[in-house]
Amino acid sequence: MFKKIRKRKIYSRMIMTVLIAMLLAGSVLAAGTEAENPKYIFFLIGDGMSSSQATLAEYYNQFENLEEVNHDYEEYGESFIDLKAEEHSDRLMMHRLDHAGSTRTTGSFTLVPGSAQTATALATGVKTDRDTIALDLNDKPLKSVLIAAKDKGMATGLVSTARITHATPASFGSNVPDRGMENEIAVQYLENEIDYLVGGGARHFLPGNNDNSKREDNRNLFEEFADKGYQVFESSDQTAAFRDYTPQAGDQVIYTPTMSHVSYEIDRDNKLVPSIAEMTAKGIELLKQDNEGFFMMIEGGRIDHAAHDNDVATTIHDTLAFDDAVKTAYKFYLEHPNETLIIVAGDHETGGLGLNSSEGMEYDYFMDLAPIREVKASIEEGFEYTGDREQLYTDLKEDFGIAELTEREKELLENAMDLQDAKGRGADVDEINGYWPQATWISPVQSTIAHITSRRSRIGWTSSAHTGQIIPIRTHGVGAARYTGSMDNTDVAKITAELLEVELN
Ligand SMILES: [Zn+2]
Repeated sequence: MFKKIRKRKIYSRMIMTVLIAMLLAGSVLAAGTEAENPKYIFFLIGDGMSSSQATLAEYYNQFENLEEVNHDYEEYGESFIDLKAEEHSDRLMMHRLDHAGSTRTTGSFTLVPGSAQTATALATGVKTDRDTIALDLNDKPLKSVLIAAKDKGMATGLVSTARITHATPASFGSNVPDRGMENEIAVQYLENEIDYLVGGGARHFLPGNNDNSKREDNRNLFEEFADKGYQVFESSDQTAAFRDYTPQAGDQVIYTPTMSHVSYEIDRDNKLVPSIAEMTAKGIELLKQDNEGFFMMIEGGRIDHAAHDNDVATTIHDTLAFDDAVKTAYKFYLEHPNETLIIVAGDHETGGLGLNSSEGMEYDYFMDLAPIREVKASIEEGFEYTGDREQLYTDLKEDFGIAELTEREKELLENAMDLQDAKGRGADVDEINGYWPQATWISPVQSTIAHITSRRSRIGWTSSAHTGQIIPIRTHGVGAARYTGSMDNTDVAKITAELLEVELN
């Protein structure tokens, strides 16, 4: 009898234990699910940004902030900067996020990808052909994580410092067979009703009879957006109005301060064009009012262009500006830590950027960031050689801090001017100066100046195009731990879709 009672007690205790364990497991699971579903998603993409662009920007940031207190800089060089890094917390925000992983970037048929391809992979989880925007290899339209978030009821935003119709934002908000179909992409944004559209590229929204327009029809998309109830700010004339505007719940916005891309950060006139961080902040102000949460893609689109130009200072300043947008997202995360996910990705590397281009070991593993500080304009927008050599040398001194050239530098530059005088700005400097990467849209003289500045800093470039590196991804917040380890770029979209509990393709 006694034994039996005892046994029953043991049984009931076991049952209780099991029940409690089940309850605990249940609540843990519930909490797990809750914690895995972000309500607010920032998907930040540095176009052309790999670890070398981000590393260089971070070291430059430290250099700028440290030199005043760093009396021994001449003696210790960059290793001294490293030692002081933590103390001054000049690390980029993207490098202070909790989780890190890496992504392969190959396309369907090529090891070295294009932006349409990589953006399609990041947005839809499918690899495709080089210039295709969110279509698979059989031309089937693919649903992006942004459109899936929209279908779920979330508010959506696209921000870019490139044209808003450029490949990266386009892959999140449209489906076309060729990235050049920017007029069609603009129409699809209208049809898909992306709530917040901010970036360059007014020329694809203006009617064809406007001199600045690139449209072949006479549709005025700004008017059509306005008819749908959008707040429309169609040029830098409305920048002040955009800044004064206080978003109300349910508002939709389109703002395009420039005809083509937004200026490089180094050339940007803040009165006319807001920073990418400001564009992001206004987007948050609007989209956070949606009860279902939001999905916002923010592209630092011109890091890529600067790297195509092999323009070291411009690459750095655009990367730092992009990092400020990461900071803006992070500030929002601090207010909503249990509901926010931040993803900071690159799409591919551009330029084959190398940190130290010494031609021999005699330079002793050294970079010199000081010459970069003297640069006051981008090579592309801030400088053009028009045949006046005296003017060129004045500009070099005033805008690029190059007062005296070495014999070799002078020879390279004079060669480039001779070539440009003879064959025009479309000539390829490679013809005269040996292997010397040059983006097709910059002149021999512009390219030569870019390389002089880079070499003075011991920064090397192996390409004027993209390269095939595996690149880092950083994440923070709800679900962020999922994006770790060695991934493919398509995994990023797949994981994001799982966190959103949506089906893609
Ligand atoms: Zn590119």
